[in-house]
Amino acid sequence: MPTYEYECRRCGHRFEKFQAMKDRPLQRCPRCRGKIERLPGGGAGILFRGAGFYATDYRSAGYRKAARADKSGESTKAAPAAGSAAKGDTTKSKAG
Ligand SMILES: [Zn+2]
Repeated sequence: MPTYEYECRRCGHRFEKFQAMKDRPLQRCPRCRGKIERLPGGGAGILFRGAGFYATDYRSAGYRKAARADKSGESTKAAPAAGSAAKGDTTKSKAG
């Protein structure tokens, strides 16, 4: 049996109703007796779409290294990402 979601057009009251398919959709808001509308989708599931769960994977390589070095704090032999800020700006062209 699916769960239907309704929203009141009058007071904005939102609620879910557990109904059988053959049951008729509700018409009235239990709170203000106003007109309600059934929302598409119904229940959970549609809200989770589009979340970026796997978007943080590509940067884990460098991140892990840094985290590890920070944790031990004993041997700082490995040079941390050199050249990021030191990269020169020698591309100054003369305006002709
Ligand atoms: Zn209402």
